Amino acid sequence: MAVLAQQDILWRSHWLQQALAADPDLAPPLEEQTRADVCIVGGGYLGLWTAIRLREANPGLDVVIVERDICGGGPSGRNSGMLLSAWTKLAALSALKGEAEALRVVRLSMEAIDGIAEFCAENGIDCWLDRVGWIWGATCAAQNGAWNDAIARYEKHGEAPARRVSRDEIAAMTGSHGFLAGAFDASAATVQPAFLARGLRRVALSRGVRIYEKTPMRRFSRRSPLVVETERGSVTAAKIVLAMNAWSAGVTELAPALFNISSDDAASLPMPEKLEKVGYSRGPLMIDSRVFVAGWRVTRDGRLNVGVTGGHIGFGGLVDQRFHGPSPRVEAMRAALRDGHPALADFPLATAWEGPIDRTDSGLPLFGRLTANPDILYGYGFSGNGIGMTYLGGKVLTSLALGRDDGWADMALVRPVRRGFPPEPFRFVGAHFVRGAVRRRDKLEHAGRKPDPVTAWVAGLAPSGVTPSKANITSRVE
Ligand SMILES: Cc1cc2nc3c(=O)[nH]c(=O)nc-3n(C[C@H](O)[C@H](O)[C@H](O)COP(=O)(O)OP(=O)(O)OC[C@H]3O[C@@H](n4cnc5c(N)ncnc54)[C@H](O)[C@@H]3O)c2cc1C
Repeated sequence: MAVLAQQDILWRSHWLQQALAADPDLAPPLEEQTRADVCIVGGGYLGLWTAIRLREANPGLDVVIVERDICGGGPSGRNSGMLLSAWTKLAALSALKGEAEALRVVRLSMEAIDGIAEFCAENGIDCWLDRVGWIWGATCAAQNGAWNDAIARYEKHGEAPARRVSRDEIAAMTGSHGFLAGAFDASAATVQPAFLARGLRRVALSRGVRIYEKTPMRRFSRRSPLVVETERGSVTAAKIVLAMNAWSAGVTELAPALFNISSDDAASLPMPEKLEKVGYSRGPLMIDSRVFVAGWRVTRDGRLNVGVTGGHIGFGGLVDQRFHGPSPRVEAMRAALRDGHPALADFPLATAWEGPIDRTDSGLPLFGRLTANPDILYGYGFSGNGIGMTYLGGKVLTSLALGRDDGWADMALVRPVRRGFPPEPFRFVGAHFVRGAVRRRDKLEHAGRKPDPVTAWVAGLAPSGVTPSKANITSRVE
């Protein structure tokens, strides 16, 4: 059994370092011509869930995963571990296929949290899943009430996925007076994201999925027979599933719907006494209402994990080396904490890292079949909210691959790729303008000032991410 070299572990996220210390197993690269029923490109959550579901549906199916790095080496092993439903996305979902279908998708996304918990319990994956809940809050007056529109949409249906909470209630739950007010969703959970990814990998292997790591796909054919070519081998398959997240921007047909932007995360050294002293030993995870959100949570081993979004922008969709290094944005994390949880802003840093986010203009993922060949399937565009959505995605892609008509294959998120952003170089230049305006607006709003109309307008062009922001509440939906 091959194992990952130490120098290939040390540069990775805190989560992966922790997970790989216990499980450094490395699957062999593909070095031959092979055949399979389904070839999945990408061994993140989406590729792994899809492989597991396919084998569950038909244990005789030969399923192969080719992964350019290691399974979970991408954002699935680097994220903040905030497992959220899609309740904040009802407006964007309704624009796709009406409100009834939107509500169905939201309910499925809520069930996904239970589904992940159950799957992990049944399969011995201890990913530290903890139902701590989530506070979506405001760190300045301009953000206050960002959740009102979303909550009002549910009140019409007599539902309440979250309840409004006051500053004092938030302080009692988290020890922070930084949030002026917020919405509390009790269903959300935190996980150790790399324990989840590596656990899924282990389950996939145990169920007979063939995994090839350190095996980048170089190209794939659009005409039958379908072939995925790698550096030193190939897979001829009846179906291909592209589960490549931000790297989808390298696929001509998928590129128009997304742009790539980095997110940054950091883990503190263990500081259980400090967390206890400030009243945040096991509080709800917290996310502010910026367009480029900042969020934080605590871990089972007494660390703070904090993340900020809106970093590097990839030209032409390239996920270059800048998306994989140590994070240069620790100061931005401390600044976000000074606003949202001041007592933690001086946290002792252990490691900071970054990763790419595949943002779509609606903030929603897309699943479907390539027009060039319906046996080639895709799933991407999780826009920073992928832990729960990839669980659903595995079911959607399984139904699409098996040609089932079962309520998954016709879900609102299954749709053709539509151009969401202008072509390069306009996308790259435009994204910089918008990012600059969003940052400027945030700064002014936190200083209690109103942004000038040009800044407000340009910032308003930013697509929704994890939550719709107040100024972008009517942000473009498909
Ligand atoms: C810093 C950060 C924080 C985040 N925080 C959260 C959070 O708290 N909650 C949340 O829900 N989401 C969060 N996300 C987003 C979440 O991590 C992703 O949406 C999710 O991991 C997507 O899963 P995936 O399988 O689609 O992608 P990935 O995990 O990126 O998997 C795709 C895989 O495809 C592989 N690949 C790409 N191209 C090729 C190729 N040519 N050949 C072979 N393999 C290839 C990649 O190496 C990668 O491993 C965060 C993301 C980042 C970067």
